[in-house]
Amino acid sequence: MSGKSQLTEQETVFTTLDLGTMEFMKWLIAKDAGSGDTLIVVKDFLVNKYVILFDKSISKDVIVDYRESMPLCMSCSTDDCGHVGFAICLKQDYDRDDQVIF
Ligand SMILES: [Zn+2]
Repeated sequence: MSGKSQLTEQETVFTTLDLGTMEFMKWLIAKDAGSGDTLIVVKDFLVNKYVILFDKSISKDVIVDYRESMPLCMSCSTDDCGHVGFAICLKQDYDRDDQVIF
């Protein structure tokens, strides 16, 4: 029993903060246009608490916990993946407009 399968563990394409930031820009444009082919979908957002993203590259929900200062991605167990980059941008956008529409 190896218990390991290479096929079940898909790696997200959002491995760096910058990739998440770039995806957020695409997401913003797609949101304004009312359509688009973004790899991240925002499912739920609770200001200063958490954001639930759907990452199409792994077909999974990803939860980013905002915590006190630096957000933490619960899926990647890191604070420097693309999901965190996306979450930071989302929060900045919220702070500016005082609302998030998705
Ligand atoms: Zn992540």
